[in-house]
Amino acid sequence: MINTIPFNKPYLSGKETDYIREAVLSGKISGNGTFTQKCHTFFEQKYGFLKVLLTTSCTDALEMAALLANIEPGDEVIVPSYTFVSTALAFIRQGAVIVFADSCVDHPNLDVNKVEALITAKTKAIVPVHYAGIACDMDQLMLLAEKYNLLVIEDAAQAIDSYYKGRPLGSIGHLAAFSFHETKNIISGEGGMIAINDPRFIHRAEIIWEKGTNRAEFFRGEINKYGWVDTGSSFLPSEVTSAFLYAQIEHLSNIQTRRTNLWEYYYRLLEPLAQKGFFALPALPDYATNNAHMFYLTCKSISVRQCLIDTLKSSGILAVFHYLSLHKSEYYQSKHDGRLLPNSDFFSDCLVRLPMFYELNYTEIDRIVKILNDINF
Ligand SMILES: *Cc1c(COP(=O)(O)O)cnc(C)c1O
Repeated sequence: MINTIPFNKPYLSGKETDYIREAVLSGKISGNGTFTQKCHTFFEQKYGFLKVLLTTSCTDALEMAALLANIEPGDEVIVPSYTFVSTALAFIRQGAVIVFADSCVDHPNLDVNKVEALITAKTKAIVPVHYAGIACDMDQLMLLAEKYNLLVIEDAAQAIDSYYKGRPLGSIGHLAAFSFHETKNIISGEGGMIAINDPRFIHRAEIIWEKGTNRAEFFRGEINKYGWVDTGSSFLPSEVTSAFLYAQIEHLSNIQTRRTNLWEYYYRLLEPLAQKGFFALPALPDYATNNAHMFYLTCKSISVRQCLIDTLKSSGILAVFHYLSLHKSEYYQSKHDGRLLPNSDFFSDCLVRLPMFYELNYTEIDRIVKILNDINF
């Protein structure tokens, strides 16, 4: 019987069920209660976001961003092709045309140098994704946004506690979306958050969050009745979800330290193999920090990657590939404008993610690296 190593294992701080019990017994179980507000305060204070609202997922946070950005049929939104479906889907639902951007040669993030050529009179927003928690070049994107009067909406789903030139990711774009899905660094099962950094959007964000009503203002005693004032949906999570998240937040620095240590250990042990040219290690631009969300390698070809995945699997270790280029997806390929996006396709074919989670230990990493060492690349 071989010891298996999963790809991911959700970390529990131990307080989750205590806080959930507290939330349930408080008699206030729906959204925007004590735990939700404690989470909001934490994120606003720690990262300097002007305003945050927890959501039931990052997908929901992106949908809120699409509503706040007033995306209308025919508007163009620039999105990397190498990303999760939701990055594009949230804007498609508003009728946007997605203009897919290619990745960098050496990094899955969108190639900022190629974005300006994609901007037209119809462009409304750019949605950079900080892949593996590594920042896109935000200064350049914000300059383009200013020059062409566009919004920048950061898909920071993987980017909690990561920085660009010392500034927290999610605090730079006009809006940003985070995920607390169980595969991310801090989790609540399903969960997310929108960060609002442009004061123009704060008032309306609260309304959209609460089904198009001004309920939040009513509960703060700012108005004496509440009603239907705008579009929106039920974007807020229940206190059960927020209580779970709060138990994670309390362990954030501990989680980040552990993950970073594991990540650096992987990197150190794999460097000799990378130097032999068997695969490439993740590129880290000097303006970005690494929040150790993911440890990935890029192989030379899809067949080398398959060999690596199969070899690890036969030893009970789960390594997995990641996104398939969205411009080639069943849903969008007929709507795509036909441009080739070779770097996105390269990462679709060649990127592989190794096990990465809090409870992974150094002995297990040794075991994984030994197997990689024995592959005849
Ligand atoms: C996880 C993820 C999402 C979706 O997050 P949910 O909370 O599951 O909706 C969106 N974009 C990226 C880049 C992600 O990694």
